[in-house]
Amino acid sequence: MKTVDTINFAGKKALVRVDFNVPLDKNTFAITDDARIRATIPTLKKILADGGSCILMSHLGRPLKKLKEDGTIDYNKFTLKHTVARTGELLGVDVQFAQDCIGQDAIDKANALQPGQVLLLENLRFYKEEEKGDTIFAEKLSKLGDVYVNDAFGTAHRAHASTAIIAQFFSNAKCFGYVMAKEVANAELVMKQAARPFTAITGGAKVSDKLLILENLIDKVDNLIIGGGMAYTFLKAMGYEIGASLCEEDRLQLCLDLMAKAKSKGVNLMLPADSIIADAFSNEANHKACSNKNIEAGWMGLDIGPEAAKEYAEVIKNSKTILWNGPMGVFEMSNYENGTKQAAIAVAEATKNGAFSLIGGGDSAAAVAKFGFEKEVSYVSTGGGALLEYFEGKELPGIKAINE
Ligand code: AMP
Repeated sequence: MKTVDTINFAGKKALVRVDFNVPLDKNTFAITDDARIRATIPTLKKILADGGSCILMSHLGRPLKKLKEDGTIDYNKFTLKHTVARTGELLGVDVQFAQDCIGQDAIDKANALQPGQVLLLENLRFYKEEEKGDTIFAEKLSKLGDVYVNDAFGTAHRAHASTAIIAQFFSNAKCFGYVMAKEVANAELVMKQAARPFTAITGGAKVSDKLLILENLIDKVDNLIIGGGMAYTFLKAMGYEIGASLCEEDRLQLCLDLMAKAKSKGVNLMLPADSIIADAFSNEANHKACSNKNIEAGWMGLDIGPEAAKEYAEVIKNSKTILWNGPMGVFEMSNYENGTKQAAIAVAEATKNGAFSLIGGGDSAAAVAKFGFEKEVSYVSTGGGALLEYFEGKELPGIKAINE
């Protein structure tokens, strides 16, 4: 992989696509979690240590989709100025700011930039051209720097102007930052060189969201563990009564097809034997453990049951490669967190015994963090959507653009 280590940035202006799409406090706009900024600091430090300078570009939120009531852009809310001070603190360098990502202010400030200095450009998504992947817009951005660095894995599955289209203006002067390189290396390790047994744990609300990933994984894994709301569509397809549990009626056949495919490939597709069922979608609802063969009318499965948790843990602990995407139940509520927690404990134990465990972003990462296992798994991915598309077998535009 072509990383920043392959380039000497001395005297060069690096145009770095970072992911500063951080959560902000609704009222004060203070950063509530700076993990994405922290993640990219080593990449920036390498460029600066070489004697280069950094021009940072990012998006923040979806300003064109979340307009103010009068139909105008909410610049106050979506300005990347909110991230200037924190980035400066983490880097130990004053960060300059350009009021616009293209135009004269950006050009003047980029031209004046000296080795060791850092300039952050205003939110790319103030322009519709960014998400459209507009070539002229990408070319304008490209003129600001000498080398293009992509360190934004979270948007690697998007062919946006700054994440993919821009790379064509840098012929050979383009590379991955450390965040991107690490994400891709870990995903490749799982997809291309998995030690066996290889177990995928999938969960979350809907089968329809995980369809492509399930299909693709069946070709690779030894065990496919299914939990969460999506398990009930499978159980219904098998003819079980699932009461008021989540169900996607239009996916029943598809579940049967997936099960048949797993069987024909010798994959151990596991569905939960039991559930924690509740009489309402609430932590305060009446709840109890029950076999999945007879969920009563009006009750819904909100977590895998103790028997399923035990069975799943056994398989997880005996695995050498683990990919986890999606919680086993409504882990946000304490009465339905046990299945996800037991899975996390098993993943941690397997990891301690030498397995490689990769946790997909989003809810799985939140669950692992909630139960305190972040440091006991091999890697927690920062890119939910991008990682999923990678595991669906798609070529990510952000990666392709650098490799081409
Ligand atoms: P996803 O974004 O598809 O990974 O889904 C994650 C969400 O699925 C979490 O917010 C969970 O609370 C929810 N979830 C997990 N299991 C269930 C279930 N049995 N019924 C309803 N929602 C669930």
